[in-house]
Amino acid sequence: MKNLSIVDKKIRIQGHGIRITPELKTRIAEEGYYPIALTWLSDDVTGPFSFTGYGETSPFELHHVDGGYAVFENGEFFTEATFYKKPRFFDRQHTAKGLQRAPDNTVFIDEGMSGVITPCGTALNREDSDLFKVTKGKFPYVTVACYNGLVIWPAWGCLYTKNHTQCKFCCIPGEYNEHKLLHTDTDYWHNLGETFAAAVEEIGPEIGQVSLTVDSGTLPGRDKGARVYVQVLDTIKQRLGYLPDLLYRRAVIEPPLEFEWLQRLADAGFTDIQMDADVYDAAERRHVMPNAKGHRSIDDYIRAFRKAKEIFPGEVATQLIAGIQSDENLLKGVEHFASEGVPTLVTPFLPFGHGRAWRATGEVDVPTPERMKRIYGRCAEILTKYNVPAPQFRGGVSSLAETMGRRMRRVRALTNELDLQRDLVAAV
Ligand code: SF4
Repeated sequence: MKNLSIVDKKIRIQGHGIRITPELKTRIAEEGYYPIALTWLSDDVTGPFSFTGYGETSPFELHHVDGGYAVFENGEFFTEATFYKKPRFFDRQHTAKGLQRAPDNTVFIDEGMSGVITPCGTALNREDSDLFKVTKGKFPYVTVACYNGLVIWPAWGCLYTKNHTQCKFCCIPGEYNEHKLLHTDTDYWHNLGETFAAAVEEIGPEIGQVSLTVDSGTLPGRDKGARVYVQVLDTIKQRLGYLPDLLYRRAVIEPPLEFEWLQRLADAGFTDIQMDADVYDAAERRHVMPNAKGHRSIDDYIRAFRKAKEIFPGEVATQLIAGIQSDENLLKGVEHFASEGVPTLVTPFLPFGHGRAWRATGEVDVPTPERMKRIYGRCAEILTKYNVPAPQFRGGVSSLAETMGRRMRRVRALTNELDLQRDLVAAV
């Protein structure tokens, strides 16, 4: 165990999550960190790990040692760990319409990845009937995700959840519905522009090392939400007077039914696009995604990829999720997409939101580290064979890019002063 590489350690932790006591969580927050599943295992490897241990006993636990933090496995040191600092722009929070609560300081979310990907979660709290358990109905307009990424969620509803045909693995907790689409809230747009401007100012000269991802559930309409994504970049452009030159500006979206929407996304300033197939085999798609997405053929995705590759200057990528389909089919998909020049972000199934309920049925489980390592190894071989680089966007969860040697260092502007001081001392 002692000779594991840092990437192997990331893969091992990924299947379990990290436990953390409430006391330590408080301490981390007081020290100015943003501990929402954004654990840095070294200067250039990170991944979102749930602090709840995915609701079960995890062998991994966070400890405070020697003035810093470390992950222990069954009581033995496993790896050092640290977090992004909590940026000032996080204090600019959206408050759900009608909630009648004023925004205040950032609410720390302890639901792990669910907190990052769905920073606006609502779920009934059985103990006190508070509807807004996850974020108290507030969340940052702009979230920091892994690898120096700014993420904007212009909506937290999903058409399929509203129709009760959500994907079985969906990480968004229940009770999401169309009423919570943010683009219907005029305040949202104004404040989003203000918050993005604050983020650009706070990050300063390092802004070029930072990426932007716009993501949401599938929105109603044949554009699948592209109209709203365009509005996000238009809002930023209007507020700043320009679109910042970021590492990339990525739209994560179901392929619009009319490809003219791909052109409109590119024209708005998106450089990269990710259209997640999630499941490859047609029968498995229909079983896992009992909705319009599950009934879309892979050929439809291939057509969209080809069109997108003509239009976008950056990366056209997709995602497949391990653990919810056969490994054989997943690898067939990776190969098919790679033959089109499209990298696949291979991500392990993690039991959040609806996925938690699905796992409880016993039909699926979180893939073991050994299984993920095998899959990553095969995927790396396939991408190399087709001369396709590892996906730039890692969603935090995937270790494929790190398996292929890709690294990215945390920018100083998002690093806690305590870590900067520690680095200085280490350098002397
Ligand atoms: S995983 Fe499926 S149900 Fe969940 S947000 Fe995405 S498209 Fe909607």
